[in-house]
Amino acid sequence: MSIAPPESVRSNPWRKLGAGVWVLPTPGFGMNTGLVLGADRGLVIDTGAGPLQAQDIYCSIRTLTDLPLAVVNTHAHGDHYFGNSYFAAQGVGEFWATARCREVCIEQGEAQRGLVAGIEPGMAAADGDNTDIMPPTNLVEGTPVDLDLGGVSVTLFHLGRGHTDHDLLVGAGNVLFTGDLVEEGADPAFEDSFPADWLRTLGKIVALEDLYDVFVPGHGSPSGVEHVTTQLERMRSAIRVTKVAMDEASTDVTKAIPLLPYGPEQSRVLLTRLRTLAHWQWLDRKH
Ligand SMILES: [Zn+2]
Repeated sequence: MSIAPPESVRSNPWRKLGAGVWVLPTPGFGMNTGLVLGADRGLVIDTGAGPLQAQDIYCSIRTLTDLPLAVVNTHAHGDHYFGNSYFAAQGVGEFWATARCREVCIEQGEAQRGLVAGIEPGMAAADGDNTDIMPPTNLVEGTPVDLDLGGVSVTLFHLGRGHTDHDLLVGAGNVLFTGDLVEEGADPAFEDSFPADWLRTLGKIVALEDLYDVFVPGHGSPSGVEHVTTQLERMRSAIRVTKVAMDEASTDVTKAIPLLPYGPEQSRVLLTRLRTLAHWQWLDRKH
């Protein structure tokens, strides 16, 4: 099936980050789709929030290459993988992610539909072509996976919990796609996060600066390692302030919110998340 590209993608919207490595910021959530091209095939990093966005991404890819494609999903948030079904309909047969990512897609995919209602009404309503939730099929378990794209090798690896419990990183040449472990231009999203582990994982990403020069966040502009270090330091201070407030039992912990280096919404989410995790730990110790 050939599809005429929408007007918006007829001129090249991709930003080249390195040899055969590209990024495409998508509208709506501002999610960054990545593309790595070898001599034999291409790898698409994250497929968008539903079939409309996936079609735009796919048509944009076809302005660069006619090669067969594989997909990798960085994590199980709908803005990153709800386009999978559209890509499968175009003949893509490999969808890589962590094994845990697949589980979360299956467990929580239907419940996430409402999040994309603003830009993907069909996906939100499960109404229309390619609106089924398609979990990844090719799983990264404990060890990194190297994919050969034809003279170009891409490494898929998990460094520990952070934005979720299953974030996958994608290294291609001197470019590292970090998924939502790194954010630029917005606060990190803590809803499903493990904040203390996130610090450790960001530290591991910073330690990769000898291997990678360009770090592509899940949303926002690609940057050098200094942005990852800044995010790490800011998060460390946010967690410290929140924990001090939680330890001072007489204090209303919400008073910590204006002290945090984030906007009120994500400050509140971080606070709630740390309290929930502390409660789980308390339950674990009790039983
Ligand atoms: Zn996310």
